[in-house]
Order: sequence, then structure tokens, then C-alpha cells
Amino acid sequence: MTDRAEELERKDKQFVWHPFAQMRDFLEEPLLIVESGDGCTLRDVRGKTYIDGVSSLWCNLHGHRRAEIDRAIREQLDRVAHSTLLGLANVPSIELAEKLVAISPPGLEKVFYSDDGATAVEVAIKMAFQFWRQNGRPERSKFVSLENAYHGDTLGAVSVGGIAAFHELYRPLLFDCLRVPSPYCYRCPIGMERDACEMQCAEEMERVVAENAHEIAAVVVEPMVQGAAGIIPMPNGYMKRLTRACEKAGALLIADEVAVGFGRTAKMFACEWEDARPDFLCCAKGLTGGYLPLAATLTTRRVFDGFCGEFEEHRTFFHGHTYTGNPLGCAAALASLAIFERDRVLEKLAPKIALLERGLAKLRELSHVGDVRSKGMMAGVELVRDKSTKEPFEAAFRAGHRVTLAARQRGLIIRPLGDVVVLMPPLAISKDELSRMLNIVREAICDATKD
Ligand code: PMP
Repeated sequence: MTDRAEELERKDKQFVWHPFAQMRDFLEEPLLIVESGDGCTLRDVRGKTYIDGVSSLWCNLHGHRRAEIDRAIREQLDRVAHSTLLGLANVPSIELAEKLVAISPPGLEKVFYSDDGATAVEVAIKMAFQFWRQNGRPERSKFVSLENAYHGDTLGAVSVGGIAAFHELYRPLLFDCLRVPSPYCYRCPIGMERDACEMQCAEEMERVVAENAHEIAAVVVEPMVQGAAGIIPMPNGYMKRLTRACEKAGALLIADEVAVGFGRTAKMFACEWEDARPDFLCCAKGLTGGYLPLAATLTTRRVFDGFCGEFEEHRTFFHGHTYTGNPLGCAAALASLAIFERDRVLEKLAPKIALLERGLAKLRELSHVGDVRSKGMMAGVELVRDKSTKEPFEAAFRAGHRVTLAARQRGLIIRPLGDVVVLMPPLAISKDELSRMLNIVREAICDATKD
């Protein structure tokens, strides 16, 4: 270990509190400190290289140090790094808004910027609530969300979240939500069997939405894949039924595309799979190609008009952040979207997805792999102690974490969700790197679970 690497590790452990980490364990473990990146590879301060198997937390799309995005940020830096959207405008945020409206599902015409996935959702929740308050339907104040949902860590986003381990403790600080079952087929919450069921989970969702129709402000959903729940793809047709249930109830639909947006599921937006027309579309993560914190909440003219009126009517949306519409972030996002067009990124994904699916199918054979799920370039491998009974490993064994460490030794960075091994490489990953990644994952699972 070099002196510098040792010194950095010592200082990190002295000064930094890491997110989502039990810090007592964290301080005991060796630390991977990233120094640089190139394409789909990250290099640590000791010079070891790794494939970035989770796109630096699901956000990198076109690789690290991508020349076009680097250049766009540098060029913007030569103009201005930041100026505010409160009372002023800036050039890249205007150009990006036009672009986002052009590529998003029909009906979305207005772009409200913020900084992260959680704030994009927070904005949608507040807008939906306020819209009904000031447009003659104040009783429409409730939100419907799915069990196992994850929408970020600010309190509004946590209120519509449904992952007990992350969210339950904060319950006294949160607003109540109407909950519908998660379409988690491997462990069906209503006891059905995949392939033999008639999507009773969707029936239950339709029932809750219909019975509470007059009180619902909005239904919040991660379209097509519940990400942080363990990469849980929705059964075909579920999203369509959810959209229809919203329409019938007159409720607004908030599509949280923070994780699934920008090509992750092989479409630009996951809503496109089942032609969902949301009233709000929340994006962040991949918006800048994974470069900078920038988020956007898109909405319809109808919602926008509901906020327009005389100044003294107080219809203003009193919400904004210092870095809202940051020009560097918007310049990066424009460069990222230009890469989508010029390199025909989405059109070229099919062979990579086929390779990923073939590799995943082989993992299914392992004795501690209970379920393998994927949609496009997002995959989850659920580890279990006993495949026949689906009995999980005991929590203290930390099977997912063990696989992560075993993969790291072999040159792959991944991060699990409990005992679900998550694979979400940049869209730009080569077939060769993808094969290497899948081989490492297989070895790491065998090693960590003694398969
Ligand atoms: N929504 C979804 C669906 C997410 O997966 C995430 C983050 N994983 C968020 C919101 C929150 O995004 P951020 O971490 O940028 O606040």
C-alpha cells in the first residue's frame, strides 16, 4: 500500500460519514478510494482497475471521462459555472428544457429543475398537492404508492417510500399514504405463483385507487421496475392498468424515472413500454450522463395553468433550490442527449441486453441463486440459502455484501441491495467487458456462498 493511499484511507475514516453505511463495520473494512475513471473502468488510488458494474450508483451512461461531455462542461465553465433560475434564466437550462420536452412522453410541456432524484419527486408531490388545493378539489390530498417503493431520502419522498428497513423509523415525521401491493412475483405478497396468476396485485391496486378516487391527489410509481426494492420488473400489463386506474379516478400520475430513465430499460423512458402518459415525470441520475447533480420534474400544461393567476391569489409554487437549473449540469445533460442521438445508443443496446440475459440465465443454475430478474440493462440476482423453499440467508451473513467484496477482489465494482446482487453497467459497456463482468459475478457468488 502506498503511503498516500494509507493516508487518504486514514483521513476518510477520521472525517467522512458515508451514506447508507453501518459506520462501525465500514471503519473495519478496507476502503476503495477512486482516483480516476475512463470508459467503464474506475481506477483506485493504489492503481487497481475495476469495471464500474453499477454505473456509479445507476447514473453513468456513456462511460467516464467521455470527451463530448467533458468538453461541454469545460466550454460552459468558460462562460459561467452557476447563476440562479430564481428571477433569471440561463442558456443551457432553456435548451435542455426544450430537448427534454421533445423526448419525453406526450403531454409533458413544462420543466421544473432541481438537484437530485429525491428533490425531483418532492417537487412532483408538492405540485400535485397544491394543484388540487387551488383548483377547487382540496379533498384530493392523498397519495397512493407501492409497497417496496423507493423514491429518495427527503421526507416527502420517504413518505411515499415502502421499504421498511429504510423508512419505518421515520413514520412519525411522515404523511400517510394509501399502499398497494408490490408486483414482486418471486415473493408474491398475496401468495400467487408467477405464470399461474391473473395479476391479482393489479386488481388490488385498481380497487384501492377506485375506492379512494375522490381523495387521491396522485399515484406515485417507479414505472416498469422497482429499483431499490431489488430490481423488480413489473409483470407485462401492470403499468397500463395502473395508468388506466389513475385516469378513471381522475388522479394525477407521478412517474419516478430517476432510476429507469435515459435508456436503462432500453427505451429512453420506461413509461414508453406501456404507453403511460404521466402528469409528472421525475428524472435525475442519468440526466447528465452521470456527471453532475441535476434533476428535472416535467409536467403538463394543465398542471402549469393551475398555478397561474393574480399575484395576490397565492398560486405561486414556492419551491426552489440554490443550484436549480445549474448551467454546468444542463450543459452536461445536453451533451449526453446529443450522444444518444449521434451514437444511436438505444438502437445499439439489443446485442448487449441479449448477452446480459444469457449470462444471467446461467447464474440461475447456481444453488444459492433464487431468482434472476432484468429489464434492459438493469438486473438483480436474488441470493437465497435454500432455493427450494426460497429461505433467505440470515441477515448477519450479509450474502450480498460478501459477493460485492469477492467481486471487488476480481476487479468489478458492484453494490447489493440486501441479498440482491445488482448489475447495472453503463449503457456504453462493451460486450467484452460485459462478459468479463458476468464471469466475475458468477465466480464471486460461488466464492461468497460456497456454491
Ligand atoms: N427515485 C428512485 C426510483 C431511485 O432509484 C432513487 C435513487 N436510487 C431516487 C428516487 C433518489 O435519487 P437521489 O439519490 O438522486 O436523491
